[in-house]
Parts: sequence; structure tokens; C-alpha cells
Amino acid sequence: MTHTDFIPYGRQSISDEDIAEVVSTLQSDFLTQGPRVVEFETTLAKKVNARYACAVNSATSSLHLACLALGVKDGDYVWTSPNTFIASANCARYCGAHVDFVDIDPNTYNMSIEALEKKLILAKQQDRLPKVVIPVHFAGQSCDMQAIAKLAKQYGFRVIEDASHAIGAKYQNKYVGNCEFSDICVFSFHPVKIITSAEGGMAVTNDENLAKHMKTHAHQGTTKDPDELTQVPGDWYYEQHTLGFNYRMTELQAALGLSQLSRLDDFIKQRHQQFQRYQVLLKNLPITLPFQAESSTSSLHLFPILLPKQYPKTRKAVFDDLRNAGIGTQIHYIPVHNQPYYQQFGFKLGDYPVAEDYYQRTLSLPMFVGLTKQQQERVALVLRDALVKNGVVL
Ligand SMILES: *Cc1c(COP(=O)(O)O)cnc(C)c1O
Repeated sequence: MTHTDFIPYGRQSISDEDIAEVVSTLQSDFLTQGPRVVEFETTLAKKVNARYACAVNSATSSLHLACLALGVKDGDYVWTSPNTFIASANCARYCGAHVDFVDIDPNTYNMSIEALEKKLILAKQQDRLPKVVIPVHFAGQSCDMQAIAKLAKQYGFRVIEDASHAIGAKYQNKYVGNCEFSDICVFSFHPVKIITSAEGGMAVTNDENLAKHMKTHAHQGTTKDPDELTQVPGDWYYEQHTLGFNYRMTELQAALGLSQLSRLDDFIKQRHQQFQRYQVLLKNLPITLPFQAESSTSSLHLFPILLPKQYPKTRKAVFDDLRNAGIGTQIHYIPVHNQPYYQQFGFKLGDYPVAEDYYQRTLSLPMFVGLTKQQQERVALVLRDALVKNGVVL
């Protein structure tokens, strides 16, 4: 097996135009803060139809800033999905809040609305209602945001969408990020995600105060806005008003992000073509393919399949067989509450049975821009062989 035969589960697509944009920015006057970051923010906000955007160095930073802007502090409760990357939970811990989880829906693998409502009723009785809930648009498919917004109103919590997987996805025919049903929505531009800026993240919101709060905190707690300064002795002047961080995005990252953003529609189209091909190639296998809700159009960040319940021990074998045949798969996700760090807060195996069962049986097949038809056929063949070998297919 040569290295070039290996098919990863996900990877970036970098074009000559992307490279040219980064090189020309490298030759410009600004490497850190400059016109490209602002252009990336305004272009993305316009694309998803949000009023304000704040670009930073990662989605993790965005989530942290979003929690801070919504006033999350020591002793507050923040709820998210256990079926996510740890960053969706860690952001609340940075603010000293307690993290709690809501089990997932067995079809969409997103936060279950039923479980959320049940947990809210109980939390209200116990006076432990969350300040913020962070639904995660798993694999690029939007959560049922209208239902979440309704519960937010009823129970008085705020909503941060973790849309790290979901740039370019639509919910009710509108782009995820328009914040119709949330306070803030966060995107990631890590290379495995839909578009990349190498590292990078962006939060969008329709609330000017939240946007200002996030901006200030991303820039060491400083401001240069004349309306906010106590005095304006000269052009050099800025003031620190609060304790912030250095979460800035660079011009190089923004140049790459902008160029990638111009390719977003094509990326989503290609992912949908791949999805259709997998539907055909895998249709006779006894596995569950990703469910697509009618109310949304997924950005298809991942293609998680589910092995049948009757074969609880086969996942590792299938995973290893695929890897050994040069097909990179990955598991999304190890339930966050099962991480040793979170177990110190009392979480244990069995707390979120749907997410745990899903974790035991899932496997993400390769899905990325540039994945060819031939490669998908190879994935399907090797997967079939692995299922035969492990007794799932006779
Ligand atoms: C990737 C990811 C993040 C973190 O993104 P970074 O840009 O790497 O910080 C957060 N949440 C989810 C669901 C992710 O997949």
C-alpha cells in the first residue's frame, strides 16, 4: 500500500486560487489585523444572513467568547449534546460553569427535543435551569431549532448553535447562521470541516451588544471605538475595559477562509453527490445510513454509518479492517460525559444511553471534496468484505 492509496475520512481541498490569495496577502502590508479579516466577516455574515460576525483563531475560542457574552459564569449551568467534540462542553468550563448533557435523538444523532424538554421540567423543579443550551448540528444537519427556541423562551435560557459542521447547511430553507432561533451561531474552519482557514472560527449574531462583547474579548479586552472611549487624545489611543484574550484571526487565515467561502456552494454540491453515490453503493448492506430531515439540508460534513445492534462487538473489527485496507474512518464521537475529565463531575457510563449505544456502533466513512467515484466504490467493497468477514453479512 503506497501512501497515496490511503483514503482519509476527511481532508481539506486547497486550490491554486486559495494559494494565490494567501501568497498575495503574505506580500501585503498586513499579516495579522487588516482588511481581509473584516472582509471575511462581512462576506460570511452576508452569506448566512446574520448582522454581525466576529472572526477568531478557532471555533473553540468562538464558543468561549459566546459563553462569556451571554454572561456564563461560576455556578451557572450550560447544557450541550454528549455526541460532540469536547470543545462544545469545554467552553462552559472555561467560564466556571457546570456542564450537563441532553441525550441524542436516535435518528438524527442531534440533541433530542423530547429529552431536552424532560430535563427542563425536572431542572425547573430543582431550580437548576441552564443559562445557556448549546445544540450541535451533528454531521452538518441542523437541530430542530424552532423547537429549541420555543423551549428557550418558555424556560428562559439562551442558545448558542455549535455549527462547526454546518456552514452551508440550511434549516427551513435558510442558511444556518441567520440566528433566527438562537443568540449566537459558531462556525469552525479547521481543515477537516467544510471550509478551512487552517485554524479559525467565527461567531455570528444579530445582537450588536453580543457582537461587541465578543470582539472586545477577542482583542485583550480593548476597544478603539470612539463611542466607547473615555477620551480621544489621538489616533494611537485605545483603552482596555475588561480582561480579554488574544483570540485574533490572522490576515493569512482570513485570505484562505475567504477564498474557500467562495467555493462553499460547490463543496456542498460535491458532498451531496457523494452522499447520493453512497446511498446506491451501500443500499444492500445491513447498516443504517445517515438520516436526512425534511426541514433541513445538511452540509454533510460527515457520513456516519451505524452497524446493526445484533453485532455489538464488530465495530472495532470493521474499523481495523478498513484502516488496514487503506481506508481512514473515524468515530464521531466518544460521548463527552465518558471522558475522564468529565467523569470527575460524577458522569458515568449509562447516563446518556442513546449517545452511548450510537458511539458503540458508529463509523464515519470518507467524505470530502475531491473524493472520487472510484474511491467510494473501493470504500463500499472493502466495507462489504469487512462486514462479511465479521459475520454481519452472510
Ligand atoms: C471542530 C469542532 C469544534 C472546535 O473547532 P476548532 O475550530 O477546532 O476549535 C467545536 N465543536 C464541534 C462540534 C467541532 O466539530
